[in-house]
Amino acid sequence: MITMSGAEALRASMSGPVILPGDADYDEARTVWNAEVDRRPATVARCAGTEDVVAAVGFARDTGLVMSVRGGAHNAAGTAVCDDGLVVDLSRMNRVVVDPGARRARVGGGALLADVDAATQAHGLAVPTGIIGHTGIGGIALGGGMGWLTRKFGLTIDNMLSAEVVSADGRVLRASADEHPELFWALRGGSGNFGVVTEFEFRLHPLDPMVEFGLFFWTLEQGPEVLRLAREVLAAMPVDVNLIAGALHAPPEPFVPEEHQLRPGYAMLLTGFDGTPEHARLVARIREQLPPAFDMVTSMPYVDLQRMLDDANAWGNYCYTKPTYVEGLTDPVIQVVTEHVPRKNSPLSLLLFYPLDEAYSRTGEDDTAFGGGRTPRLITFLVGYAPDATLLEADRAWVRNLWDALRPLAIGTGHGYVNELVEFDEDVLRGSYGAAKYERLAGIKAEYDPGNLFRHNTNIKPG
Ligand SMILES: Cc1cc2nc3c(=O)[nH]c(=O)nc-3n(C[C@H](O)[C@H](O)[C@H](O)COP(=O)(O)OP(=O)(O)OC[C@H]3O[C@@H](n4cnc5c(N)ncnc54)[C@H](O)[C@@H]3O)c2cc1C
Repeated sequence: MITMSGAEALRASMSGPVILPGDADYDEARTVWNAEVDRRPATVARCAGTEDVVAAVGFARDTGLVMSVRGGAHNAAGTAVCDDGLVVDLSRMNRVVVDPGARRARVGGGALLADVDAATQAHGLAVPTGIIGHTGIGGIALGGGMGWLTRKFGLTIDNMLSAEVVSADGRVLRASADEHPELFWALRGGSGNFGVVTEFEFRLHPLDPMVEFGLFFWTLEQGPEVLRLAREVLAAMPVDVNLIAGALHAPPEPFVPEEHQLRPGYAMLLTGFDGTPEHARLVARIREQLPPAFDMVTSMPYVDLQRMLDDANAWGNYCYTKPTYVEGLTDPVIQVVTEHVPRKNSPLSLLLFYPLDEAYSRTGEDDTAFGGGRTPRLITFLVGYAPDATLLEADRAWVRNLWDALRPLAIGTGHGYVNELVEFDEDVLRGSYGAAKYERLAGIKAEYDPGNLFRHNTNIKPG
């Protein structure tokens, strides 16, 4: 634990606040998105800038305290917060500076996706990220980053141009294709293992601020037909259209007829970008081929699309996830899914498939540390998500059983996206990255963090 004199020394070396147990804001400072995670750090260093991060990292190194790094605090494993150690909290470092001429943005390591979207869309520009606005750019960008724009512009890491990093020995480094290129490679997928990123620089793309959106919902009994139709839509859609398909409970929203509210079923979420007429064509095809129980089709600003699911994924619920990738919605995948989906218990739990193809597959397999593999595929988000711990227990079993059943149909070892891992050990991480990438990451770790200071994460041990 930290002594009072230690806390005072840390306070004196930082301009941001240092929060201790007993302080009024201690409970707020140690809370992360997943209510299952209830850890009590010795102190939270709420950094105001890079110098504060250097001071906090140095303090952890010199005192031997366990250290964790908090971006948006969204990671379901709760790696942002540690017991009895020091949390390097980046939440105040959320500035986004856009250079519209150069189509670049500099983004603070603690910014949220909503901060990034608001600043970039003010100039009609965007960087591809995830689909929930209150996710942190730090965690998502270091692990991969996938969402509505992945088909069009690739993963978040595919658009990273450079990063300012505070290393374990307290240096402030710039990593890019020309400076510390091995570190730059590792940062693009290797997660928080290599230092604290105080600022990212991203390439931006023009994106029309208005997007087309369609939500279609069918009953539980129609599962096989819905997923077969989703397979057809996925195969037919051009790069300006995207589809997330899966199983969820209908939300209690005004546009949902009362008889369907909070009923389990299958859904397709269809987006269209840059005014593509293909969105309307696919909407008509879906309605004609398999009339949904209800639907909602509308235009909306991209920034609203990016926040549309925020309330459904609010802070304060209990979550358990397990990731995997499949090649597509094959008949055996559909059979497994439709057998398991009716067993889900919590109305918040869900299963989603996002397509990873097009721009995603145009980045070379070894260009980044991302372990997913770049052949076209679907990522599977299997999410147990519940308002209380008891209900989560039931859906933890649901997620595990469904994952086990999908594993023989999965790509590779079945251990998918590192950002989605809640339970992991070295074998799981090796499986997620593949042996060759894992070894290369372990070698870079040995160079930049030989003492494994940055270990409260999906940890790659120094090789
Ligand atoms: C509801 C929900 C929806 C999601 N949706 C998507 C999605 O659409 N697409 C997608 O790709 N992923 C998605 N994810 C996964 C998401 O990418 C991870 O949870 C990610 O870790 C969140 O980043 P964060 O900064 O909010 O998390 P945090 O919990 O703050 O950080 C997680 C870890 O990342 C590291 N880290 C964070 N910031 C920094 C930094 N600046 N420097 C160094 N290390 C840092 C640390 O090791 C930290 O422990 C989702 C997760 C949830 C819970």
